[in-house]
Amino acid sequence: MKYIGAHVSASGGVENAPRNAHEIGATAFALFTKNQRQWAAPALSAEQIAAFREACRNYGYTPQQILPHDSYLINLGHPEEEGLQKSRASFLHEMQRCEALGLDRLNFHPGSHLKKISEQESLALVAESINIALANTKGVTAVIENTAGQGSNLGYAFWHLAYIIERVEDKSRVGVCLDTCHSFAAGYDLSTELGCEMVFREFDEVVGFEFLRGMHLNDALKGVGSRVDRHSPMGEGFLGITPFRYIMQDKRFDDIPLILETPDESRWPEEIALLKSFAEE
Ligand SMILES: [Zn+2]
Ligand SMILES: [Zn+2]
Repeated sequence: MKYIGAHVSASGGVENAPRNAHEIGATAFALFTKNQRQWAAPALSAEQIAAFREACRNYGYTPQQILPHDSYLINLGHPEEEGLQKSRASFLHEMQRCEALGLDRLNFHPGSHLKKISEQESLALVAESINIALANTKGVTAVIENTAGQGSNLGYAFWHLAYIIERVEDKSRVGVCLDTCHSFAAGYDLSTELGCEMVFREFDEVVGFEFLRGMHLNDALKGVGSRVDRHSPMGEGFLGITPFRYIMQDKRFDDIPLILETPDESRWPEEIALLKSFAEE
């Protein structure tokens, strides 16, 4: 089964996200469980948690159709003690919010070395950060997203993901999310069928499809290898429509949330409908 949706608004409270997803015809959705540009957030109330769970039940969303995303401020590979501790505390909080909401995974960007330590040193810190969060939560998988590799961001190469996973103690609770735009910007050319074939084979060899817990479906505004993280509406960027049809017709992408983060929200209903039609071809 293909679960297809978008990163919807949770404004007014997380309990509104399932309805927002339902209204655009989505069978999956992503959300921020708190303001993604702030460190602090009021705790979720018992009423909110109950309302969120009820809305998910009403609209037919199970945890495997939902991919929460953490705050952009968190850097689990931070080279400095203060920044690292702050990030770890905040990440644990986000994992606990997911746990309270009955969600089984949390999507995050690995982090940045800020040009102060090596990639390997920073990646090892990310793994240690994940171990700490997993030891203090139950039932939530840490889902590492690959990145475009802008600035000093880690996670642009598949081996970065593998390097982290290797150092995570509980392999049953670590996974990855591939973003099509980030992959392309990082140099993985998904714009043709042959490209998809080769890139996903490499992903399987280096990381393994058994770790795939979600996908972000975005077209790319800049060319292959640009290292620039700018999304385009589906079919209008350098990726074109080919990789999206490919993913919809490949069983390796079944039963995980497939999430649009394309820039024009008004087009999500048509983009979702198009993806659904590919899945049915
Ligand atoms: Zn992301
Ligand atoms: Zn993404």
